Amino acid sequence: MNNIHAVIITIGDELLIGQTIDTNSAWIAQQLNAQGIDVVRRVAVGDTKHAITTALDEEWQKASLIILTGGLGPTSDDITKPLLCDYFGGKLVVNEDVLTHLKEIFSRRNRPMLERNLKQAEVPDNCSVLFNKMGTAPGMWFEKNGKVIISLPGVPFEMKHIMEEVALPRIKGHFSTRNAIVHKTIFTAGEGESYLAEKIADIEIALPANIKLAYLPDSGFVKLRLTGHGPDANRLEVEVIAEQQKLIERLSSIIIATEDLPLEKILGDLAKQMQVTFGLAESCTGGYIGHFITQVPGGSAYFKGSIVSYDNEVKQNVLGVSKDTIEQKGAVSEETVIEMATGALRLLNVDYALSVSGVLGPDGGTDRVKVGTVWMAVADKNRVITKVHNFFYDRERNKEMAAKMAMLLLWKFMTGKA
Ligand code: AMP
Ligand code: MG
Repeated sequence: MNNIHAVIITIGDELLIGQTIDTNSAWIAQQLNAQGIDVVRRVAVGDTKHAITTALDEEWQKASLIILTGGLGPTSDDITKPLLCDYFGGKLVVNEDVLTHLKEIFSRRNRPMLERNLKQAEVPDNCSVLFNKMGTAPGMWFEKNGKVIISLPGVPFEMKHIMEEVALPRIKGHFSTRNAIVHKTIFTAGEGESYLAEKIADIEIALPANIKLAYLPDSGFVKLRLTGHGPDANRLEVEVIAEQQKLIERLSSIIIATEDLPLEKILGDLAKQMQVTFGLAESCTGGYIGHFITQVPGGSAYFKGSIVSYDNEVKQNVLGVSKDTIEQKGAVSEETVIEMATGALRLLNVDYALSVSGVLGPDGGTDRVKVGTVWMAVADKNRVITKVHNFFYDRERNKEMAAKMAMLLLWKFMTGKA
């Protein structure tokens, strides 16, 4: 059987002017992919009848499944519902279930229901409703010539709810998906994609036709993703894992994970597995590393806290960095980050402490310490290691890099790789 081709159309002027980042289509694509459905195109269009109709006309030919998000709100800029109703030749009628649900929502919020809210209970008579427990705009499912068009609200958590609870199970049933897609990822640190490409060229060339390799570079890291297509999910899994294994063996010295996980999760899992704790002393990152670490649920098992010591007074008075060190070596120096790390180790009573101090720019550079210089240290009770980076991006990215490289240094120290 042919692959099921899906198209995602996101609707909203805010997407076109870059005010809202289109996260919906990325998320939907992941969900469809996991079901073995190929997303062949993603399109963003504005809130006009012409734009939406043109997109539908163009994509209708190619796709067996079209998912739209956005334009379902109660305001005049939201036109998706009447438009789809016309497009498929239906008329708007009140749906009693949706009306009851709306009345409940408004009475719970203690707000009067306006005429325009009542309109949200109207749905085209040629679709079936995808009930939206989380909000006021119902999703819609249209079918024509075996093809399916699904319209969902733009608000991400409402969209996700309808997809997970109602739309995806129904999609699975409608298109008895026979084509499987398997992704396997390897997370590497410290080498660029060109180096990796050279190193694994022979493995890449010898990949079977149904397995493709993608390089995904990001801030000092490169993810390698293998994607396989095939009729038999179990067999495909085995095939893709076999190829992944070849890459793992070849690149073992620079691999930090063989799954697609964020660095803070990899670090957290390691700490949990080692049954150790760690803490931070952050200067230029201002708590940003702590933010990453606390993004992972359950972090309290291993993360004790971050001392944000932005000002030198705090480095001295709280962490116990000596005045002489700061005056003679500078706040951004190897000596200072060592004293910050050992101070945090003691104060936070942890097994490992990571410290960072740097100049992120655009100002603040000196002859001795250029903009972009970031020192970092990791200490346990037996030893301390340090590393200096010279970043050359803007402030925001320098901060991002500092945080990621610091987490990587801690990971390397903990795994005995540094
Ligand atoms: P709408 O259904 O068009 O009224 O969308 C409501 C809100 O959802 C918008 O104001 C955006 O903040 C958000 N939104 C709409 N489309 C997207 C999208 N593709 N990705 C992320 N957020 C979106
Ligand atoms: Mg909108």
